[in-house]
Amino acid sequence: MVYAFFAGHWLLSVLFQSVFQHRYAAHKMYTMGPRTERVIHFLAWLVQGSSYLNPRGYAILHREHHAFSDTERDPHAPGFHQNALAMMWRTKKRYDDYAHDRVKPEARFDGDVPQWKLIDVTLGQSWPMRVLFGVAYAAFYFAFATHWWQIAFMLPVHFVMGPVHGAIVNWCGHKYGYQSFDNGDKSRNTLPFDFVTMGELFQNNHHKYGASPNFAARWFELDPGWQVLRLMALARIVTIRTPQRAVFPEPLRQAA
Ligand SMILES: [Zn+2]
Ligand SMILES: [Zn+2]
Repeated sequence: MVYAFFAGHWLLSVLFQSVFQHRYAAHKMYTMGPRTERVIHFLAWLVQGSSYLNPRGYAILHREHHAFSDTERDPHAPGFHQNALAMMWRTKKRYDDYAHDRVKPEARFDGDVPQWKLIDVTLGQSWPMRVLFGVAYAAFYFAFATHWWQIAFMLPVHFVMGPVHGAIVNWCGHKYGYQSFDNGDKSRNTLPFDFVTMGELFQNNHHKYGASPNFAARWFELDPGWQVLRLMALARIVTIRTPQRAVFPEPLRQAA
């Protein structure tokens, strides 16, 4: 039971992050009606719970990441940090500055993002609300856990699900795996079938084709987030903006 809850929360959490905060808020790869947007926005908060990310804060940080990938101005470049934890701590500070409106970003990184004060600020950034989510996760574990270590090691992950995904994607995606394109940075494709983070680990492809909603680029690659988005488009919930790119246009570069 707790394994199903863990897997469900993990996958749904990262799916909403990939499809809503990343592919919609930061990149506008598809469009949807205002009511649909509200439903998805609300569901993203509900699913991500205690570690919900404000879409505007996420979008600004992520657009900076694309503009400054693996340079000193990148909000999360593994090359400039000892370990993933140190990197994420710095990223968190920068995210908080934007999420709490303490720092004004460059104008080109701001704007055209879904904003909903009740969800993003009033509920999403409220500590009592985060604690309430934490209590709900804990209640589930205390009711269904069958070993003490499930409570000791699995439960805490639910509290910080978003940052855990962020650490995996931002660290591994620019450090481990193969490169199909020379983007002038360290972006890599970590897994040919990215079932762990719903397609987010195709960083090398994504930095090459920042506007493509499909993060897979070669025949053996499968991006689950894109498959979900494709079904949503088929059901007319969303309209894909950028046409899917079918060809692999550049010569392969040997992975370093
Ligand atoms: Zn990246
Ligand atoms: Zn991106």
